Amino acid sequence: QTAGHISTSAASFRDFLLKPELLRAINDCAFEHPSKVQEEAIPDGLAGHDIVAQAKAGMGKTAVFVTVILERIAADEQSLQALVVVHTRELAYQVAKEFERFKAYLEGITVQCIYGGVPLPQQEASLTKDKPHIVVGCPGRLKVLVQRKALDLSRLKIFVIDEVDKVLEKADMRQDVQEIFYTTPKNKQTMCFSATLPPEIKGTVMKFVQKPKEILIDMDKLSLHGLSQFYIKLEESQKTRKLTDLMDILEFNQVVIFVRDKRRCHSLNKILQESKFPSIELHSDMDATERIATYNKFKKFEARILVTTDLGARGLDIERVNIVFNYDFPIEADTYMHRVGRAGRFGNKGMAISFISTTEDPSGKINDQSIFEKVQARFAVKVEPLPDEIDLSSY
Ligand code: ADP
Ligand code: MG
Repeated sequence: QTAGHISTSAASFRDFLLKPELLRAINDCAFEHPSKVQEEAIPDGLAGHDIVAQAKAGMGKTAVFVTVILERIAADEQSLQALVVVHTRELAYQVAKEFERFKAYLEGITVQCIYGGVPLPQQEASLTKDKPHIVVGCPGRLKVLVQRKALDLSRLKIFVIDEVDKVLEKADMRQDVQEIFYTTPKNKQTMCFSATLPPEIKGTVMKFVQKPKEILIDMDKLSLHGLSQFYIKLEESQKTRKLTDLMDILEFNQVVIFVRDKRRCHSLNKILQESKFPSIELHSDMDATERIATYNKFKKFEARILVTTDLGARGLDIERVNIVFNYDFPIEADTYMHRVGRAGRFGNKGMAISFISTTEDPSGKINDQSIFEKVQARFAVKVEPLPDEIDLSSY
């Protein structure tokens, strides 16, 4: 597997002087060279600094905190030493898996994944019994477990927030995180990551860190290497036909289709299934088990078409996804970047096709054209009209 077009450096993971067991696992992942964000953030993280790191989607931010945590915690101390907070169950699950992969040769380190929708007593029992060193979870359920004293953060060494702008954006999640954060020792390391960090959230993020190293990688142009981006202007009523026509023509490994809400997600998925497209759906109206099962099915390539909402817009790392459709254009410019970043991970080639509706929204809330202009301005990317002939080698 190649690292595509991403600019890695000549440096090697060996240079970080990691435990041999950890380095061996990283080698097994076929990570040849660290990406820029890894090269900058891992040494600071290993030195114990607080970190606020912003780097584009798919640049390998997960490996930064997974590496730092596994290197810095002590296997022989039976206490919860690292907590990773994320905003969705799927992401919690994915990050926990990444810990499993990286700790393959490290003995005695335990990781637990915690999210809502799973019976509370079961989680409490396993936390008490297994006493994990590392917990990955979503704010709501973590808070409940802290309140119920099933989660003891008094000896925490490392606190991580991934997709930090999303986690701290809405009041309820932010308050949950604050409540959790207050039960951790003052003297700990905090690391925050995202591909986007809007100025209005930055101040909030800064309250969680002390003298942080701020790492900003290539944020001047948010274009994504290896990702071709196109748009099509069309009437609302033409979308489904256009989508299926394109999926007939285009050669894709896996495709993710983003829609506005869960109702549309369910309806579109049904239509696709009734046509000849074996798609699956992922949205927040499904229970926790179903959601993780769906994620796994897609990750394991047992399904090739995923229809989802913004639930799937951030963080999910599905290597074979090479086409993303914005069936409904996102309602925020930042969301565009996260969504299209599901294709072309780590510099692999990919293509994003966005539908821009020319049908006027009677409520006046949706105006694809104006958001599209914001996207163009904000990210300095050239999103072109979809040409009649698409070069198959371009994605
Ligand atoms: P981000 O969180 O920055 O969006 P991820 O951490 O999800 O990105 O990583 C994207 C993909 O790149 C993952 O599949 C990961 O395994 C892979 N990856 C990360 N670092 C490297 C590396 N140094 N070499 C090769 N692949 C890498
Ligand atoms: Mg990520």
